[in-house]
Amino acid sequence: GSASRYDFVIVGGGTSGLVVANRLSEMEGFTVAVIEAGDSVLNNANVSAVTGYGQAFGTEIDWAYETEDQTYAGGSKQIIRAGKAIGGTSTINGMTHTRAQKVQIDAWEHVGNEGWNWNNLFTYYKKSEEFQVPTSEQVARGADYYIAYHGEHGPLKVGWPREMTNSSVLPQLDETFQQLGLPYNRDCNGGSMVGLTAHPNTVDSEANLRHDAARAYYWPYQHRPNLKIISNTSANKIIWESDSSNEAVAVGVEVTGVNGVETIYASKEVILSAGSLRSPMLLELSGIGNPNILRQFDIPVQVNISTVGENLQDQTNNGFSYEGNDIWLGSPTFSALPSADDIFGENVSTIASDVNSSLAEYAKRVSEHSNGAVQEGNVLAAFQLQHDQIFKSQVPYAEIVFLPIGNSFSSEYWPLLPFSRGSVHINSTDGSQPPSINPNYFMFGQDLNAHADVARYIRNAFSTPPLRTIVGEELAPGQKHVPENASDSIWEGWVKSKYRSNFHPVGTASMLPRDKGGVVDAELKVYGTKNVRVVDASVLPFQLCGHLTSTLYAVAERASDLIKKRYIF
Ligand code: FAD
Repeated sequence: GSASRYDFVIVGGGTSGLVVANRLSEMEGFTVAVIEAGDSVLNNANVSAVTGYGQAFGTEIDWAYETEDQTYAGGSKQIIRAGKAIGGTSTINGMTHTRAQKVQIDAWEHVGNEGWNWNNLFTYYKKSEEFQVPTSEQVARGADYYIAYHGEHGPLKVGWPREMTNSSVLPQLDETFQQLGLPYNRDCNGGSMVGLTAHPNTVDSEANLRHDAARAYYWPYQHRPNLKIISNTSANKIIWESDSSNEAVAVGVEVTGVNGVETIYASKEVILSAGSLRSPMLLELSGIGNPNILRQFDIPVQVNISTVGENLQDQTNNGFSYEGNDIWLGSPTFSALPSADDIFGENVSTIASDVNSSLAEYAKRVSEHSNGAVQEGNVLAAFQLQHDQIFKSQVPYAEIVFLPIGNSFSSEYWPLLPFSRGSVHINSTDGSQPPSINPNYFMFGQDLNAHADVARYIRNAFSTPPLRTIVGEELAPGQKHVPENASDSIWEGWVKSKYRSNFHPVGTASMLPRDKGGVVDAELKVYGTKNVRVVDASVLPFQLCGHLTSTLYAVAERASDLIKKRYIF
């Protein structure tokens, strides 16, 4: 019936999908449906509480994807968390709002995605944002900004938690890091991220609530007559026009929902926003992917794109903890973002050339791992670009988060640009089965070395006053497990036994020219199709130094404008 026909059908009402739904439904003559596996979490306290990070983990709103055994990382599986809710992963994430280093967004255009550069995206970072100017109390506790970097009229509230950590902490961290040569960065959201900073979060500062994609982009607009969310409903695959000759033409999406299996028809376009672990799987279930994989499941090939699901890039996270010599109240938002120069000092050029001399071998192994689906030359080019970002452009090498809470002072960290590349592929033809996910954590020596080097840098910071004076004994890793002057292999053993995913998977349907391994073009349209796009973390071709949501909101805002341009004049 007419109830199941819309102009645009968006799969996934998450971080990116709700932006697209909001912006497309601004076109009054067009109808928009969003298919979302999860439900409303508007009244879920595990979501809304500003201090509730982690409470939603393992509950029914966490997909909690399990990876394959991680051969290079001690053998065990990892859990990758992702939100199953209206609002997607933005409803369970850490709310950190940091963008990227300018050169990383400019790289998208350099590799052939016309129009995707920092200056253009900056407009959309700001378009998405409603910056909440901090109060004098928040400023006293470290909130700092350049207003020119921020948008004031967008849907997403960005600011600092109402209760920020004691004002003593930031000056103590600053004095410590000044001695290590790391400058203070007033506002890391202008494209220069290196330094110590008190970053903003996606919070409604006044109401003291998480601001996620649903609160920002959906709930205030839920009464639009042309916008419909179909929740508790899972997409299985795209349905194609039967006589697609040149290009594959999508006519709708097969879903399983409260009425069983049915088709939601799309007169104009199907947009996949199911996240980087799910959108490539939907492409494969729909016949777009590597024929060698599709053949194993008897799925007819609509479009041969061997790189669907490849190029998976995630980071790995680990932590320190110390006894506190103080009591800290409120929510901390402190990060140190040191560059390779900061970490390696006078050894940096030796490290840079060591890494450089490994790139050809790394690229060869990535290609072999994909059974040739990914071309060695393409990986090598991407690795050289990444190497230049790290060692020439001096983008941040790691993020180090400081968490003084109560009477303990802990720290989480992750090297920002690992070289390991993995994949996500279907395991069956049943869309309700999770995909096979293999990030290949620590596939390469450099990724493990980076962990040990950053860990040493952190321990050094905690041994430098005044930071040294406000913490007591190191509880993790602890001198017993990793003594002072421990060898690389001791550090690396600790890393492998304690690491976790940093939950930033990207790249599995990369926006790149087709001959460079791309799955979508610069309008985020899937190659070989007339009317299917991907708009979510899958399309980011390279990992970023910022947390992902700010960039995903901006990408989805820009994508929405590119789509609208085709329908309104
Ligand atoms: P999602 O937001 O995951 O949206 C995908 C949606 O599709 C989901 O709602 C899902 O339920 C739905 N879906 C999937 N499959 C189907 C299907 N077959 N049918 C129907 N619906 C489907 N980023 C930051 O910026 N700051 C942080 O502090 C931060 N911390 C994080 C902490 C954690 C624990 C995690 C997991 C991530 C964190 N991130 C953070 C990363 C960031 O939140 C994600 O990268 C981002 O939200 C992903 O957005 P997306 O649009 O790609 O996908």
